[in-house]
Amino acid sequence: MAIEYRTIETEVRLPYRLAYGPTWTRFFEGMKEEKIYGSRCPKCERLLVPARTFCPRCFVDMNEWVEVSQEGTVEAWVLTNYRYYGMPVEPPFISALIKLDGTHCNFLHMIGGFELTNLEAVRAKVKNGMKVRAVWEEEKTGHILDIQHFAPVGG
Ligand SMILES: [Zn+2]
Repeated sequence: MAIEYRTIETEVRLPYRLAYGPTWTRFFEGMKEEKIYGSRCPKCERLLVPARTFCPRCFVDMNEWVEVSQEGTVEAWVLTNYRYYGMPVEPPFISALIKLDGTHCNFLHMIGGFELTNLEAVRAKVKNGMKVRAVWEEEKTGHILDIQHFAPVGG
């Protein structure tokens, strides 16, 4: 016989402040200049973006900084049309894994610049494999959202 447990629904929030450190500081300072920086591993030669302090595969320091392409290919995406705690922008928005040209990992950001309220229209427009390009905010603060979104290349 299954035991029934009494439960209470609650929510755990964990606000915190994290120091950028030298690698993130340099990466986000680049955002102010409309530059996206990655770092190259001296061992496996992968170019990872955002720049990292060490290669998570080889565990060696990544000291070579590379300004990467602002264009890339959509590897996966999801349309979010509901609110949740800690969301980056107001819905609807499309989160996407974007493989910036010449890099060896996916860059998480958003796709936008067109109507997002009609799911079927979004499905017709947004495809894995489509080319996108970074669209920058006019006012930059050294934040990941200095890139407003990535827009489809060619409209
Ligand atoms: Zn490596």
